[in-house]
Amino acid sequence: MKLRKVTVFAATALVLSLTATACGGDNKDSGSSSSGGGKIKVGIKYDQPGLGLKEPNGSFSGFDVDVATYVAKQLGYKPNQIEFVETKSADRENALARGDVKFIAATYSITDERKQKVDFAGPYLLAHQDLLVKANSDISKATDLNGKKLCSVTGSTSAQNIHDTIAPKANLREYSGYSECIAGLQSGAVDAVTTDDSILAGFAAQDKYKGQFKLAGLKLSNENYGIGVKKGDTATVNKINSALEKMVSDGSWQKAVDKNFGPANYKNEQAPKIGVIVK
Ligand code: GLU
Repeated sequence: MKLRKVTVFAATALVLSLTATACGGDNKDSGSSSSGGGKIKVGIKYDQPGLGLKEPNGSFSGFDVDVATYVAKQLGYKPNQIEFVETKSADRENALARGDVKFIAATYSITDERKQKVDFAGPYLLAHQDLLVKANSDISKATDLNGKKLCSVTGSTSAQNIHDTIAPKANLREYSGYSECIAGLQSGAVDAVTTDDSILAGFAAQDKYKGQFKLAGLKLSNENYGIGVKKGDTATVNKINSALEKMVSDGSWQKAVDKNFGPANYKNEQAPKIGVIVK
């Protein structure tokens, strides 16, 4: 009796899975098929102007969005087949492990620790950790942070680096996104915000903050942005690496840089070589 039940269940599951395949469904496997009308789910940030931003009208903008769109195209997906999903700093490894997204382009630094859990294509940008302070602040170097209220984001290399080396004596608050840190800087709840210069420049250039903040310009670390994929998905890593190489060689990378970093006056490093990490 028990056995029968199992068999019926298995048969039902088989039919269901065949149906899902026939429809090109993107339920669990977030878009490995590049044929037909399937969708691909891509993880980005929603609150980082110039990198990954969800606009009030529901559209998406930023360098990571443009890189992700180019890569998805090379994998066989048109822009209208991409579903952008928010992957906050602390959620990225789990989102990939669960298969919520096919890949992540979200200011995601390649680190040895993260490589235990996910694989990376790239790098496709080199950024550096920096500080953002009020325009009239006298904080200008890491040691000025001792005892000061500093904001960063849970699950980021920025928070980790502060604890480990840059300013262990700072009073670090970890929020879930950088936009919350920036609001705290404006209100005076915190004295400084720390993360990649690429991200901080994007916030500082926003109309609502113009003239209020300044970057310290410290280059406190090297942040090699990679595209995260599920651990073991070497085929996707290889395809994304080819796409990134093409994006640089056909001029699309530079175009995306000019479009997204130009308005923030962010002076980025030149395009990294695929597979070469700057320590
Ligand atoms: N690039 C750093 C990281 O991967 C900081 C930016 C972020 O939190 O996304 O942790």
